[in-house]
Amino acid sequence: MSTQICSEQTRFTSVAPLVEYDNRINAVADAINGADHVLIGGGAGLSAAAGLDYAGKRFEDNFADFIDTYGIEDMYSGSFYPFETPEELWAHWARHIMVNRFDHGSTALYEDLAQLVADKDHFIITTNVESQFALAGFSTDRIFEVQGNYAYLQCAIGCHDRLYDNEQLMRQMVIETKNCRIPSHLVPKCPKCGGPMGVNIRHNDFFVQDTKWNAARDRYTTWLQEAQGSRIVLLELGVGFNTPGIIRHPFESMARFNQQVTLVRMNRDHPFSSFDSGTRILSFPEDIHTTITRIMATRCAAR
Ligand SMILES: [Zn+2]
Repeated sequence: MSTQICSEQTRFTSVAPLVEYDNRINAVADAINGADHVLIGGGAGLSAAAGLDYAGKRFEDNFADFIDTYGIEDMYSGSFYPFETPEELWAHWARHIMVNRFDHGSTALYEDLAQLVADKDHFIITTNVESQFALAGFSTDRIFEVQGNYAYLQCAIGCHDRLYDNEQLMRQMVIETKNCRIPSHLVPKCPKCGGPMGVNIRHNDFFVQDTKWNAARDRYTTWLQEAQGSRIVLLELGVGFNTPGIIRHPFESMARFNQQVTLVRMNRDHPFSSFDSGTRILSFPEDIHTTITRIMATRCAAR
């Protein structure tokens, strides 16, 4: 098993052409085999590659009535649609949450990812909110969901910092939805201030960070501190520029300033680094699942 992290042949930057796919696969397999720690950064592109696509047939099959009534174009933009009544708003949210969080189940890509790093000390930071890492078997103690989770409600203005499990309520809303509306008696109210409730995802300044969120952030910070000085592979998967300050920029910074770090960036649209030199970055515009599968096979063959 090679302990070499990144040879001169596998270093390249935004100005260099991509080396052969096989060579990059081998370089990542070597890097992981030689790593002491693996940090996974998961973005929207990862879930899309896993089949949780927010547009196309999956959207059209599940939201035909909302498409006809409101002209909603995809699930992402639907989350921001200015519904006029809470009955319509919650009919849409309940459908969205059931489709993407509770009724989908684990996906093969996330399960393969869990297998890929199972023998390495690892941690996950993600902006995704569908619990796919936990569903795939990753320990919840090793997951930091920065932007929240579809499975919880909060006071819409964050008047208190408690979160509320929403599966039973969302399921009931879907069952009782008629003409894109839920019955008024199902509209949730804040138990403290009596105002509206919202989904615990960070889309405004009222996002609630409860004790579990803070504990996950602290575990992530501690893990990073303890990993410093040893060999780290950063697997940055499907992270674009919606919120680059959470994963993408910090990962690049780590790769730029820490010679022990290898950054593996899988991103169909933005695979390259903003740095021109001095970094260890392996870029993959290719399909994430295919790449993960090939890295796993290469790792196994090297043992
Ligand atoms: Zn409240």
